[in-house]
This record gives sequence, structure tokens and C-alpha cells, in this order.
Amino acid sequence: MPVAALNQFDVVIVGGGLVGMSLAASLDGHGLRVLQLEATVARPLLPGWDERHFALGRASIERLRRIGAWSDSIDAHPIREIHVSRAGEFGRVLLRAADQGLTEYGCTAPARLLVGALEHRLAAATDIERWRPARLQRFVCGADSVELQVEYQDQLQTLQARLLVAADGTDSPIRTACAIPTECVDYQQTALVCAAEFERASGGRAFERFTESGPVAVLPLSERRCGVVFSHDRNDAEAALALADADYARLLQQRFGHRLGRVQRLGPRQPWPLRLLTADRLIDRRVVLIGNAAQTIHPMGAQGFNLGLRDAGTLANLMVAERVDVGAAGLLERYAELRASDRAQSIALSHGLVRLTVPGDLPSTLLRGFGMMMVDRISPLRDALARASMGYRGAVS
Ligand SMILES: Cc1cc2nc3c(=O)[nH]c(=O)nc-3n(C[C@H](O)[C@H](O)[C@H](O)COP(=O)(O)OP(=O)(O)OC[C@H]3O[C@@H](n4cnc5c(N)ncnc54)[C@H](O)[C@@H]3O)c2cc1C
Repeated sequence: MPVAALNQFDVVIVGGGLVGMSLAASLDGHGLRVLQLEATVARPLLPGWDERHFALGRASIERLRRIGAWSDSIDAHPIREIHVSRAGEFGRVLLRAADQGLTEYGCTAPARLLVGALEHRLAAATDIERWRPARLQRFVCGADSVELQVEYQDQLQTLQARLLVAADGTDSPIRTACAIPTECVDYQQTALVCAAEFERASGGRAFERFTESGPVAVLPLSERRCGVVFSHDRNDAEAALALADADYARLLQQRFGHRLGRVQRLGPRQPWPLRLLTADRLIDRRVVLIGNAAQTIHPMGAQGFNLGLRDAGTLANLMVAERVDVGAAGLLERYAELRASDRAQSIALSHGLVRLTVPGDLPSTLLRGFGMMMVDRISPLRDALARASMGYRGAVS
């Protein structure tokens, strides 16, 4: 393959997922030379592209708005209440935005339209160069810069950057090349995601329901439609995916109950394997990890993109303030320091919620029931859970 001339950038962001795009949008207009690479070929963002609906906290919506990636065409629906319960046990937690003097905790938004809004924002960017499909092949970190080789337009392009950002997802090739160890908990579950129409409208209430075979989240969409994330034991997921709609509706009804009446219609189902994967370090020489490359968490608690957006926001703020050498060791150490507590708390919250599904003996079942009742009755606990749901954590403005 022919080798093209050397290109110089301040930052190369590897990964054009939600987090990589959010970082690129945050850096536009600040005079930094930014290149973003995405390995896959762009596909039209049609229905079926990604069936997920994300729950976004208020802080995330504010951040997306600030970077110009939030528009009215995102079909967003408010989350006014969050109902947490466990099948077959007493006690539940009901968080109400009105109790905090708010109209809503956040909203749901289709993954497809969120990506569309970021694409639209980046199409108008002045400082961001985007290569797609382009794959990072190898890189060597030096004292002052990183040298990268990228396969793009049938050539091996050689680039230099002050900083290499790994926004390259759960299996991050950059994290592996830097030999950054990870800790992994395989939940042995697969989430099936779909839209569902119920007999009654949810009225802005989101549900997190824990059952012995895994959690079910039901998120408010328009009228009687909801977004469903239903976790299945990995061995059962394929069979659940193959079920006829009427049989799957029955299964969902059994696990979720009748809070919204009968399940009347289902959209197409998509499978997502579930695991917790955390990098032991967020930084290496002239390399930083953000988003799923840094931590991939269970969707229960809806923290993943909210957290990745705070990674991107923190890093962008530090880079914009520094400007001269955005890959300097001091800046990267500061980033790791700033992200530590938010990251640890978000991972603990999502993993803790998943642990609620583990079947237990009578004393632990009673404890869990009382725990839920206590959280429901003690306002500081309820407020802490509500703040986490809204995404007000970490030092990002
Ligand atoms: C079922 C489900 C429901 C969820 N619901 C929510 C929710 O309600 N709220 C929420 O906040 N979060 C939610 N999440 C989490 C959220 O989806 C993730 O946190 C987020 O999408 C991570 O984005 P990312 O950009 O870090 O990674 P990715 O989306 O994985 O992007 C990584 C990109 O890097 C590219 N790449 C990899 N290697 C290379 C290379 N060598 N060269 C070039 N490009 C490369 C890949 O092609 C990919 O596009 C959910 C997750 C799941 C599975």
C-alpha cells in the first residue's frame, strides 16, 4: 500500500461513536487542529439503524445543547418520575422530579436521532477533519507527539498528533496496544431492545424492574409507546429473539407486570451483550481513554453515554484551556484525577443496580425490601439517587 505525506494535528480522536463525536463537537471553534477517524462505512440513519432509546439526564441535554448537538427534531420525551421495584418483593422507590422542584429529570431520545444531530453539527464544523472509513493501524508514542499510521482511501497515511484520544469502544484496540489492564464482569446476559405499545400511557414515568432472570427498563416515549430494555440470560436470549411478537409480549408482561396495562404491540428486537469492563488507567503517554473504551457499564441506570459525555466534556475543557500542548502529561493527569470520583460512583451505581436482580435468601430479600423503603422515605438518599439520574456529577460545565 502506498504511503502518503505526513499530516500534523493537535488531536486525533479514534472512534466516531456518540462519545468521539461529542468530543469533536466540543473542540470545534477553539483553534485546535482535530482529526476524527471512524472505521466503519456510514449508513443512512433510517429506522432500524439502532432501536435503542437513551435516557439522558438534564446535565447531558444541557451539554449537548451547548455544543450545538441538540435540536427540536430529536424526538425527545420527558422523564418526570422513576419507579424502581423488584418482582415478588415489597418496597419500591419512586423518584418524582416535582419533589425536587423540577419539571423533569431528563428525557428519552432515539439513538439514531442523537447520532443525526451530532453528524449535522460536525458537518458544519470549521476545525474538525473527519476521515471515514479510516482505520488506525498502529501508533508510536514519543516524548512530544504520537506518530500514527492510518488506512484511508487505499493509502497508509502517516500522521503526527500531540494527543491520541481512544474513543474506540469496549474492545478499544488503543487500550490493548498500550497494555492497559482491564477488569471485566460478564453478566452472562443479553439485552433485547425494542419499542412497545402498552394499553396506558406512562405519563412520563420510567420503570426499572428487577426480576430473577434480569432487569427490565421501560422508558417513556410518545403517548402509549415505550422503549424497552429487557435483559435475558445469555442462553435464553436467542430463543427470546426468535419468539413471535405475541409470545414475546406475554413474556414481557410476565416480567414487567401490568403497571401500564396490556402490551399491545412490539417493534423489532435488537440484541446487545451486557458486561462491565473498566480500564485500570485512563491515560498513557500522549494517550487518553474516554467513553466505552474507558468504561463499559450495564445499561441499567442509563449511565453509559451520560458518563462518556462527561469524559468528553472534561477533556475538552482542559484542552481548550491549555491549547499549546494538549497531550502534556500534566493535563492528562489532571483529566484522570477529575474523572476518578464520578466514574467510580457511576460504575458502582450501575453494578449495584444489577446486583439487585440476584436472587437471595429471606434475610437478604427483606433487607432489600427495607432498603428500597428507606431510600423511598429518606429524602437525602432519594435526592442523591435523583441527582445521579440527572447526571449532575463530575466537574464539567
Ligand atoms: C442496550 C443499551 C442501552 C443503553 N442505554 C443507555 C441510556 O439509556 N443512557 C446512556 O447514557 N447510555 C446508554 N447506553 C450506553 C451507551 O450506548 C454507550 O455508553 C455509548 O454508546 C458509548 O459510545 P462510545 O462512542 O464510547 O463507543 P462506541 O459507540 O462503541 O464507538 C466506538 C467507535 O470506534 C470505532 N473504532 C474502533 N476501533 C477503531 C479503529 N482502529 N479505527 C477507527 N475507528 C475505530 C468503532 O467503529 C465505533 O464506531 C446503553 C447501552 C446499551 C448496550
